[in-house]
Amino acid sequence: MLPCRSRCHDLRRETWVGTLLAHSLDSTGMNESLMDILCCPLDKQDLELEVVRRDDDEVLDGRLVCTECGEEYPIEEGIPNLLPPDMREGAPA
Ligand SMILES: [Zn+2]
Repeated sequence: MLPCRSRCHDLRRETWVGTLLAHSLDSTGMNESLMDILCCPLDKQDLELEVVRRDDDEVLDGRLVCTECGEEYPIEEGIPNLLPPDMREGAPA
């Protein structure tokens, strides 16, 4: 077995986004342990965490940057927005 991030890769996007939001809303911010299960929704590559504001181990504001495609996903008030760019608010319904 290779030490890959299969937990992330195996989950369908809808499922892991839901899980992620549930996790986030349970606490005051995004726990850094979530980095273990987060990946880019576009290419499933690792994300790099850039913290702007934190409270202990909870990230309140910051961003996640894909190490592969460079796409940035904002973290606002502890909630990471991992929707692909074309699904974010402002996109046509
Ligand atoms: Zn990516």
